[in-house]
Amino acid sequence: MQIEESMLGPEPLDIREEISPEALGLDEDTGLKFLGLAFEGTAVKFDRGIRIEGTIAGKANGPCARCLEPFEREISIKFRSDFIDAEHFVSRAESEVGLDELDADVLPEGPIELVEIVREQIHLAEPEREICRPDCQGLCSRCGANLNNGDCGCTDDAIDPRWEALKKLKK
Ligand SMILES: [Zn+2]
Ligand SMILES: [Zn+2]
Repeated sequence: MQIEESMLGPEPLDIREEISPEALGLDEDTGLKFLGLAFEGTAVKFDRGIRIEGTIAGKANGPCARCLEPFEREISIKFRSDFIDAEHFVSRAESEVGLDELDADVLPEGPIELVEIVREQIHLAEPEREICRPDCQGLCSRCGANLNNGDCGCTDDAIDPRWEALKKLKK
């Protein structure tokens, strides 16, 4: 969906838009698949530009960066993006900037592509290395077992098997 200034007035325009994974094009970057993504929110014209706010919701699935098991989880990203008229943007940058305005962008000449906003917000919100759960134990560095399934029996002070063989010879 494209959002143009001419579509908007001072009353917020309700938007509900499905975002296809193909249009989003994030699967390769992140190693995740985004399913059933949709943006729900509003666009409104205000004195210095356009404000788009709402929530991106859907599911992400992919392999865990630690244990490599596939997982799926809900995503919900709430955001507000301001697109400020170029002339206001300059003067505002010279004046005191409110903290909440620091993530504002310049209003583009043409229409605003909703999918680009969604892509940017997912990039900002999603950690680079996705893990299946905050306390994922990962894989054992010795035997490769998934430690979420329990202790594999390897111990940190395990002795190199070649030394073990030597010891036996000495006895
Ligand atoms: Zn994991
Ligand atoms: Zn192990």
